Amino acid sequence: MTKRLYYNDSYLTGFSAVVTEQTTHKAQPAVILNQTAFYPGSGGQPNDTGLINKVKVVDVVVRDDDAAILHILEDSPTLFESGQAVTCVVDWARRFDHMQQHTGQHILTQAFIQTSNAKTVSFHLSPDSVTIDLDMSGLTEKQLQAAEDLANAVIQDDKTVVAAIRQADEQDDVRMRKLPKHIVTDGLRVVEIEGYDKTACGGTHVSRTGEIGLLKLIKSEKRGDKTRVEFRCGQRALADYGEKHQVMSGIAAEMNCRFNEVPELVGKLRDELKAAQSALKDLREQLVGYEAERLLNEAPNDKGYKLICASFDGRDAGELRLLASRLAAGENVVALLGAAGEKSQLIFARSANLMFDMGALLKNAATQLGGRGGGQPAMAQGGGVKANLEQIQALLQAIAAEL
Ligand SMILES: [Zn+2]
Repeated sequence: MTKRLYYNDSYLTGFSAVVTEQTTHKAQPAVILNQTAFYPGSGGQPNDTGLINKVKVVDVVVRDDDAAILHILEDSPTLFESGQAVTCVVDWARRFDHMQQHTGQHILTQAFIQTSNAKTVSFHLSPDSVTIDLDMSGLTEKQLQAAEDLANAVIQDDKTVVAAIRQADEQDDVRMRKLPKHIVTDGLRVVEIEGYDKTACGGTHVSRTGEIGLLKLIKSEKRGDKTRVEFRCGQRALADYGEKHQVMSGIAAEMNCRFNEVPELVGKLRDELKAAQSALKDLREQLVGYEAERLLNEAPNDKGYKLICASFDGRDAGELRLLASRLAAGENVVALLGAAGEKSQLIFARSANLMFDMGALLKNAATQLGGRGGGQPAMAQGGGVKANLEQIQALLQAIAAEL
C-alpha cells in the first residue's frame, strides 16, 4: 500500500520514493510509489501535479481494485523500473491554492450550519470555480452575509487546523458528508479547526486559518430545493477583487464619477435613455405623418383613387407599416410600399372604401421576389428575402400596372 505522506504534512513538496510498479492508465504511462506526497483527485479536491525525476505528473488517481495511487505521466522516453529510487516535486502553487480553497470550504460549511442550519451536500473545486451545494433554498442576502462574516472572523482568528486519526468511539461530534470509497487509515481521519469544526476528510489543508487570507461569496443560485454558493478564498479572492476593482475604476473614470456613485448614475442614464427613446418615437411618428402627406400630394389620381408606389433602400418594418396605415387612413388610396435589403419588406394597404384584395396582390408580389407573405384584403405584408432597390422598384411598378 502506498504510504500517503500528505496525510501528515500538507506542506511537504519534495520527497524521495521507490517505484513499486510501472503500469498504464487509459493508455498513458503510470507509476506506483512506495510513498507519495501527490494528492489524488477525490472528495471535491483536484489532484496535484509535479515531477517524478523531471518527468511531468499530469494526473494522480486512486486505483479502484486496491486503492494504490497511480501517478499518470506525460508521454516520455524515460521509463521507470520497479525498485528504482526517484526524486519527486509537487507543484506548490497549485497545491497551496487547493489547500486555501478546501480549508475555506470547511469553514464556510460550518458557518452556514451555525448561521442558517444549512448543511453542505456537495463541494466542487476546479481551476476557475469553487462551489458548495446547501440542502436549503431561498437563502436571503442577510443569511449569506452572516455566513461570510462568520467565515472571515474564523480566518482572522488564525485558528489551528489539525488532522488526526480517530477511533469509532470518538466520532460523535464529527461532521461527515459521506464515507470515502477506500478507508486506508486505521480509523477515521478527522480535520479539526480549533474550537470551531470537526470534519472527516482525507484532503490537504492549511495549518492555520489565517493562511486563507479572506473568503468572499461570489454568487448564489437556486437549484431545485438546494442552493449553489460560489466563493473564492485566498489568492483567488484577491485576484477577483483586483479584476473587479479594475473594471469598476474603468467605468467610474468613463462616467467621470467616484466608484460608489456609479449605480446612481447608471440609473439616471437608463431613465434618460428611456425618455430619449420615447421622444424619438414621437418624432418619427410625426415625420411619417409629414411623409404621408407629401406622398399623397404627389400621387397621381387618374384612376379615381390615388396610387402610391414607394420604395426605400432599407427601412424599419414598423415604420414602413406605420407609413402604410397613415396613407390608407383616408378615402381612395392604394399604397404599395417596399424596402430593399438583406431581408426585403413589402407592405400593401388600401383605403376601407376600395375593393382591391391587397392580401392576394402581396402574395403574388412576394412569390415573384422568391419570398412569402399575405394578409387581409385591406393590408398585407411580406418579403424576407434579399432584394436590391431596383428589384423592389420594378416589382412595385409591375403590380401597379395591373391595377
Ligand atoms: Zn477537507
